[in-house]
Amino acid sequence: MSHRRLLVLSLGGTITMLPAATGGIAPTLGAADLVNAVPALGDVADIVAESPARLPSPSLRPGHLVQVARRIEEGFAAGMDGAVVIQGTDTIEESAFILDLLVGGDRPVVVTGAMRGADAPGADGPANLLAAARVAASDEATGLGTLVVLNDEIHAARFVQKTSTTLPSTFASPLAGPLGLVAEGRPRILGRVARLPVLSAAAGAPPEIALIRWAMGEDGRMLAVLPGLGYAGAVIEGMGAGHVPADAAQAIEDLATRIPVVLASRSAAGPVFTETYGYPGGEIDLIRRGAIPAGMLSGLKARLLLGLALRGGAGTAAAAFAPYQ
Ligand code: ASP
Repeated sequence: MSHRRLLVLSLGGTITMLPAATGGIAPTLGAADLVNAVPALGDVADIVAESPARLPSPSLRPGHLVQVARRIEEGFAAGMDGAVVIQGTDTIEESAFILDLLVGGDRPVVVTGAMRGADAPGADGPANLLAAARVAASDEATGLGTLVVLNDEIHAARFVQKTSTTLPSTFASPLAGPLGLVAEGRPRILGRVARLPVLSAAAGAPPEIALIRWAMGEDGRMLAVLPGLGYAGAVIEGMGAGHVPADAAQAIEDLATRIPVVLASRSAAGPVFTETYGYPGGEIDLIRRGAIPAGMLSGLKARLLLGLALRGGAGTAAAAFAPYQ
């Protein structure tokens, strides 16, 4: 097999962070620094390293990831065999899903980061970068879309979630489990996911979408202001399988006449229901009032899909969620 070529793009995050004059740690290193610190990468692939951003990941916006998707598509068109994106773990589950939605084709895209700063004892960044590169350069990862690799586990972008603020084992896929692991330096894929429709990276950044987690006793009065604040759509994280109190159902119906409203769940895992609970505020009632069920997607991921779909107009929202039911 000829030597693989990988595009490595760093956006920042703890993996790039060193002590800063302001106290604490802050993004410092770039992609070339991170790659040069792991000589074993030379056995994995020829690497083109670029640093489009040096940000803590809470400051990344969907538009940054749309740009990254375009750069990866350019790289693939120029003959790259795979891509690794390095960033902060706080928003990896969102970034990876944007890339999964926007980067077409079979070549692997792998997102990684670290839970410990670059100079911390037991820093996990170098091992995560090496594992990510091994997956991105592998035949095994072909056709799986965008993956997240940390702690030697391989997760599908559509399922992965950050579950701990501190542990190197923070990433999990509560609904489906990991797709595989890296053992003895080799990716072992235990399950595969089908690729789902890819949206256009060229269509640009998504409009603003509100994400609202429903809490006990909330009557939904805040929904009425969302369109006036400039939100093009809203995702409701309902209780359980997609429920709100009876006295909140009308507010959701009113909002759905103005902007697309998607119904997700505030639970950690499981699909939103569509045909079980018939009481006012239950999922049957809310769907009848115009809400679009998010299917298996978390609220965070549903928000990104809705925004990217709405670049094609309000009529595209329901169709975008159909493959995820
Ligand atoms: N706060 C950091 C960030 O998301 C955490 C990390 O990098 O893991 O950039």
